[in-house]
Amino acid sequence: MMTEFVPADIDASTWQNLQPYYQQLLDRDFKCSGCLEQFLLDRSELDAAAAEAGSNLYIAMTCNTEDEDAKAGFLHFVENVEPELKKVGFELNKKVVSCQHVQDLDSDRYSVLLRDWFADVEIFREENVPLQTEDTKLGQEYAELCGALMVEFDGEEKTMPQMGVYQQDQDRTIREASWRGVAERRLQDRKNIDDIFDKMVKIRHESANNAGFEDYRGYMFAVKHRFDYTPEDCIAFHDAIEQTCMPIVRKLAQERKEALGVETLRPWDLAVDPYGHAALKPFDDADDLIEKTAKLFHRMDGELGEMFDSMRDGGYSLDLDSRKGKAPGGYQASRDRQRKPFIFMNAAGLPRDLDTMVHEAGHAFHYMLCRHDDLVWYRGAPLEFAEVASMSMESLAYPFLDEFYTKEETKRAIRKHLEGIVSVLPWVATIDAFQHWIYLNPEHTREERTSQWLELVKRFGNDVDWSGLEMEQEAVWHRQLHPFEVPFYYIEYGIAQLGALQLWLKYCNDPKESLALYKEGLKLGAGKPLPELFETTGLQFDFTAKMVGTLMKAVEEALDQHAE
Ligand SMILES: [Zn+2]
Repeated sequence: MMTEFVPADIDASTWQNLQPYYQQLLDRDFKCSGCLEQFLLDRSELDAAAAEAGSNLYIAMTCNTEDEDAKAGFLHFVENVEPELKKVGFELNKKVVSCQHVQDLDSDRYSVLLRDWFADVEIFREENVPLQTEDTKLGQEYAELCGALMVEFDGEEKTMPQMGVYQQDQDRTIREASWRGVAERRLQDRKNIDDIFDKMVKIRHESANNAGFEDYRGYMFAVKHRFDYTPEDCIAFHDAIEQTCMPIVRKLAQERKEALGVETLRPWDLAVDPYGHAALKPFDDADDLIEKTAKLFHRMDGELGEMFDSMRDGGYSLDLDSRKGKAPGGYQASRDRQRKPFIFMNAAGLPRDLDTMVHEAGHAFHYMLCRHDDLVWYRGAPLEFAEVASMSMESLAYPFLDEFYTKEETKRAIRKHLEGIVSVLPWVATIDAFQHWIYLNPEHTREERTSQWLELVKRFGNDVDWSGLEMEQEAVWHRQLHPFEVPFYYIEYGIAQLGALQLWLKYCNDPKESLALYKEGLKLGAGKPLPELFETTGLQFDFTAKMVGTLMKAVEEALDQHAE
């Protein structure tokens, strides 16, 4: 079965061009499950064309933010095409799940897709549409407040990322002054941000009730298609992190304190290199980065090396160098019609850039390995697994970092990366547990919210001395955008990290076998439920204290091996 429904040269960047094809799909009759399959194939190609148009516009805008046409093109798509796609997408889902032939479809092939669409249709409520719009608007208000944050420092107006640089300074007084500058500025918005959040909690609880859920947590588990794990699994995961990860975090904090020679660790002592090393510089420019990364992947695995080389196509698939007019950050995007990946980043020669390169290459490998699937919805995977594909590459790269560093530097880079893993898990638990509490107690007061936050900080904090900074500590969560803009999205990083660490341990024992499993698992795309994606990759979908404990023990040993 194939599709010729969408012309190869369609300009899918306007709704006007897309609408007639979507209308044809809406009008189509199904006489048998074969008709339904053809419909899915045709729709997939149309959705892919629309997605690629959006992707191309986004890429064009981020590669040159000074190009007004590019910006206008992307905004036009977001404002005029995406809402229509959302509406028609829902109608088409409804049409499929209510079709009498849907039962005759091969469940091995379609059950994951249908499970998602059934859920979407089941929880949809017309009266929630304006509530969601309101929620999005509040999210924009929050983003605007954060985007407008500027601090006067060193005689100049500085942005938050610019202020962050001072946290690496060896001079403690500079770190403290810049930290205080940022915290004081943030506190000015404290009331506004709490106001926004109160409104969000109210709206979210109401929309959950409208959809027949007792609380927003249950509703969001359905919205996010979390069929394969429960809120209780997440709570067990928080406990596991507390038991097995926190002892290492506290040990690292103790070592840091001693290395810095300070009485107590203050919030401005956490980012600086405690041994006073100069910053690492793994590469010169984008060409150097590409050259060395290619060598790294060829040494890791011939096939991955070749997949990386296939992206070296004269700038079509890689835009890595940092230059004026380029948007910040890094991402991997796909062009779903041509089935080609794209990596964007701002390489400035920093170790973080190297991590980003390897991470985004993992996402690109994932895409290349599952792009054979004719259903666009299966070309990718839920975040809990998609981030396994990318995060694991960061750890599997350890033996090849000598392409970028001396022996001594490699040791430092690995240690820093391992420290990052250990410190991010408690933060994931904090943010996730906080959200569980918030939406199970939607009537809470601000004081109750604050004391819940402080309780979590006690469980998952790393012995930092906040004395005299109580107000600042109470408002720390205000700077984490997820609870505001993408509620309940965060635990995915923790789940994926467990998978990535398992793969890394396997790789240390048997590199060949583990890479073969990596590719097997990625080839499935999103076509199987999460536990099966993990199993096919040779990993367990397991958040228990036993699993987390085993992984943390391995990380602790590796940290010792790479100690100063
Ligand atoms: Zn990622």
